[in-house]
Formats: sequence, C-alpha cells, structure tokens
Amino acid sequence: HLSKRLQVVASYLPNSAQFADIGSDHAYLPCYVCLQDTRARAIAGEVNEGPYQSAIHEVQQQGLQARIDVRKGDGLQVIKENEVEQLTIAGMGATLIASILEAGKHKLERVSRLIVQPNINAIALREWFVHNDYVLVAEEIVEEDGHFYEILVADRQGADQPYTEAEKDKEMYLGPFLMKQRSKAFIRKWEAEAMKLRRVIRSIQQADQIDEGKLKRFEQQLNWIEEAIQ
Ligand code: SAM
Repeated sequence: HLSKRLQVVASYLPNSAQFADIGSDHAYLPCYVCLQDTRARAIAGEVNEGPYQSAIHEVQQQGLQARIDVRKGDGLQVIKENEVEQLTIAGMGATLIASILEAGKHKLERVSRLIVQPNINAIALREWFVHNDYVLVAEEIVEEDGHFYEILVADRQGADQPYTEAEKDKEMYLGPFLMKQRSKAFIRKWEAEAMKLRRVIRSIQQADQIDEGKLKRFEQQLNWIEEAIQ
C-alpha cells in the first residue's frame, strides 16, 4: 500500500516511464509504478546506506531487479546524461530538492518532466523552475496523517508559464494552480499557516526593535493568504 502523496506523484508519470527516483528510501514509488506498468523502468537513487539497503531489499522482494536499478550516490550523480526522461524527488524540503536539481543541472537536458513533493517551502522550487526553463504544469495538495503535502509537476517545454504579471509573487507563494483549485486541503493548510503568521507578526510588533522589512513581508503574506481562503 503506497501513501496517497506518492500515489499522486506516480499519477503524473506517463505510461512506459523511464525515470529516476532520487532519495527513494524503500523504493516504494518505483516498485509501485513498475508493478502497474510492465514497460516502466526506473533508477532508485539513495545517498545513505540504510535506505539504500532497504531499496535493494524491496526491489528483490518484488522481483523487479530487471527494471529497477538501485544505485548509491548523492543526488543526480547516480544518473548518466540521457538516461532518464522523468525525475521524481519526494519527501524532502524544497531547498534540498532545489539544491539536488541545481547540482545536477547538466543531467537534465533530456528530462522532460520533473515531479517533486517538497515537505516545506514549495516556493523555492517554483522559483527554481522559472530560472531553469521548466514550466509548472500542474499542482496538487493532499492531506495525510495531519500533514499537508504539495506535489508540483514541471515540464521542459510546450506550455506557457502559469504566472500573471499582476499577481506573480502571490502565485509563487501559494501556487498558481492550487490557488485556483481552492481544495479543502489547500484551505486547511493556509488557515493553519495564517494562524502561525499572525503569531509571528504579533511577536515582531512587540519587540523593542521592530524589523520593518520583515513585518511588511509577513503582513503581505498574510494578506495573500486571507484573500485566497476567504
Ligand atoms: N522519497 C521517499 C518518500 O517520499 O517517501 C523517501 C523520503 S525520505 C524522508 C528522504 C530520503 O532522501 C532519505 O532516505 C535520504 O537518505 C535521502 N536523501 C537525502 N538527501 C539525498 C541526496 N542528496 N541524494 C540522494 N538521497 C538523498
């Protein structure tokens, strides 16, 4: 049984996917995809010995050694240029995911789709996509075990950037697709964030030295949230 958030990641892979899952841990995602689609092939990358061994074990257990290659290494170092067409990276902070993509940029030329699931700070990935010729084409948010997970899908070309001139910063912060969908999970996530922000704003206002720049930024964010969930 695969978690809902990883099922959503999997749902954005095309049939016959040739992909790498970086930070694969137990390789549950590549196993799930390859069991469902007999033409899919994957590389499961892991930097740490424990999860690497778990991945090898799971792939053997499922009899998928012929189609899933488990490799040990840091980020995109485990893939060669032109080896995969899609990339999944899930369950880490957006800053770490962005730094993995940045460090392995030269391996991405033939990667037509990136599917990422950052645990926090998705804005860092939306920005990375814009600066690196990827176009955000879909977003989903799921709530599971009291956590909110955002899944971002970006393609190499073929679509226009989803941001508007007038509201770009707000769309970057909240997610241009998520904002439009206004799903239950989206509203619940941002209600919780708004509560945190109000607390942060109050404590800034009560400090001896008020950091005006910071205060402005947080008030701006709170405004965006309130507009989006009202
Ligand atoms: N992707 C799985 C998921 O979403 O359930 C596992 C997420 S787990 C929280 C993060 C995994 O990423 C860990 O197994 C960790 O060892 C691995 N990891 C962290 N940094 C990495 C890197 N630079 N390269 C490869 N794997 C990395």
